[in-house]
Amino acid sequence: QKPVPSDIVISRSCTPKPIDRLAREIGLMSDEVELYGKTKAKVQLHTIKRLQTQPDGKYVVVTGITPTPLGEGKSTTTVGLVQALGAHLKLNVFACVRQPSQGPTFGIKGGAAGGGYSQVIPMEEFNLHLTGDIHAITAANNLVAAAIDARMFHESTQTDKALFNRLVPVSAGQRKFSPIQLNRLKRLGIEKSDPSTLTEEEVTRFVRLDIDPDSITWQRVMDTNDRFLRKITVGQSPTEKGFTRTTQFDISVASEIMAVLALTSGLENMRQRLAKMVVASSRSGNPITTEDLGVSGALTVLMRDAIKPNLMQTLEGTPVFVHAGPFANIAHGNSSILADKIALKLVGPEGFVVTEAGFGADIGMEKFFNIKCRYSGLRPHVVVLVATVRALKMHGGGPTVTAGLPLPKEYTEENLELLEKGCSNLKKQVENARAFGVPVVVAVNAFKSDTDAELDLVCSLAKSAGAFDAVRCSHWAEGGAGAVALGQAVQKAANAPSDFKFLYNVELPIVDKIRIIAQKIYGADDVELLPEAQHKVELYTKQGFGNLPICMAKTHLSLSHDPEKKGVPTGFIVPIRDIRASVGAGFLYPLVGTMSTMPGLPTRPCFYDIDLDPDTQQVNGLF
Ligand code: ADP
Repeated sequence: QKPVPSDIVISRSCTPKPIDRLAREIGLMSDEVELYGKTKAKVQLHTIKRLQTQPDGKYVVVTGITPTPLGEGKSTTTVGLVQALGAHLKLNVFACVRQPSQGPTFGIKGGAAGGGYSQVIPMEEFNLHLTGDIHAITAANNLVAAAIDARMFHESTQTDKALFNRLVPVSAGQRKFSPIQLNRLKRLGIEKSDPSTLTEEEVTRFVRLDIDPDSITWQRVMDTNDRFLRKITVGQSPTEKGFTRTTQFDISVASEIMAVLALTSGLENMRQRLAKMVVASSRSGNPITTEDLGVSGALTVLMRDAIKPNLMQTLEGTPVFVHAGPFANIAHGNSSILADKIALKLVGPEGFVVTEAGFGADIGMEKFFNIKCRYSGLRPHVVVLVATVRALKMHGGGPTVTAGLPLPKEYTEENLELLEKGCSNLKKQVENARAFGVPVVVAVNAFKSDTDAELDLVCSLAKSAGAFDAVRCSHWAEGGAGAVALGQAVQKAANAPSDFKFLYNVELPIVDKIRIIAQKIYGADDVELLPEAQHKVELYTKQGFGNLPICMAKTHLSLSHDPEKKGVPTGFIVPIRDIRASVGAGFLYPLVGTMSTMPGLPTRPCFYDIDLDPDTQQVNGLF
């Protein structure tokens, strides 16, 4: 076998077809496509309307076993599978993937375009900036943060009358409410449109959001792993007159606006979700929303281009939507519903749309079903569960795998005993996928050092664990040709009977829903709510948010909350530290254990290798 060059060398060796040509090939009309250079385009949402009578294609979700910190090849398999189905089995296909965050790109893990001969290209465009959607999210999020602090400051330093005169200024000789202010009045039960008719009491209620600073749950965000922003103090300049406050930054891809983008069904729906986001409570305990802050229209304007899915292509010229990029451990981990819906129409009834749910089946896939499918109404035909020999050996008790260090010999030499032991994790994740009633195909992503006996063992144990089929594949080394068997297995599974069901009913009490996920998916004995989480359960239930689905923020490195516990941990209780409400996105967000919403950089981050060649203008060092 000849050696496989680096991802960026492979990506660069292939000239992508002009994106407008690809758009025509897949049946898009010229007024549905907005070009962003030669290799990327945005697709207009009215495409769905044109295709509304077209039946959907088959819908496939790619997930995985509990990974090593290196990743086990879900993105690579997503791309390899569509290359096999599209370029080799000659079906209409689409891959729908997330936009990578610059956190991992410059931090530990590197890019997320797939790898080897199964990649989205050009990978440097894919991994950096793309068409600016994450920047739009960051801008929108931080506008809300600025609005909160400024509003508290102005309310503290001005009388009701002065506030009213500024909030409802005179223009063309008349004092008039803006449409957003009229909405707020309606919510306050004040059915008046003439500002001069408000009583003093109504003026006070209207101008004072009276935000309780200790109740603020909205954080600033940026798309960099910057651990020193995990806790900060704002307002330290003398111009803020002593209104200092402890707060924090989260990473942009864990933000509620990212989740709104991923879960929205259209522009009007996005406007509604962006208005409903709860940022704090008032001192009397009522939720304060972005609509109360008057900022929701501006947020929609900032997000108006981001809502359109980005069209790119694989190395073998099949289409890809890259849209939204929530992390799977601290967010819901799935690309956008809109991209999936447009793709399902474009491929037609015989075609396949393959999307990826982040990290292991206990996290991204659980949220794919219980959150994304609940909102989209879409039901997948097949789950593809990616497994690797190396991760399974780690679950069997193999030594720690560290990014940047050579793999210990347990991973490079045959060791069937370690492998068989570690297949407990595969078995549990197959069961987790089967709990939703959809056929599971296990894709054993083969590495160079894996032996035939090892790959056969994983396939046979996967089948005895209840997988519909289990296939070894070599798409990383061979492109789509290496995943044809996987493509055929997926085709068969897509026509097998399935019996989709959610894991829990959203109407159950918050704690019951968390307990069901912890016990049924993680294998925990129970959950334990720490005081802050307990307080939030009571608050959110009282405020009427108790019936939202649950988005667990949990480590991806173990089925449990402890990243050191490999295989299938038992006898543990999942500690819930806090719960946040993402009301606009539409879920409650329990923080498990010490899970942080802002990652840090390692001693030697990936950015050490990244540079621009001044002669060719090429990006070097991305992988
Ligand atoms: P995931 O999506 O599961 O996190 P990725 O698809 O991003 O994983 O793959 C992680 C890394 O492993 C990438 O750098 C990719 O190129 C590499 N990789 C994936 N499959 C293989 C393989 N079969 N052999 C060698 N490297 C691989």
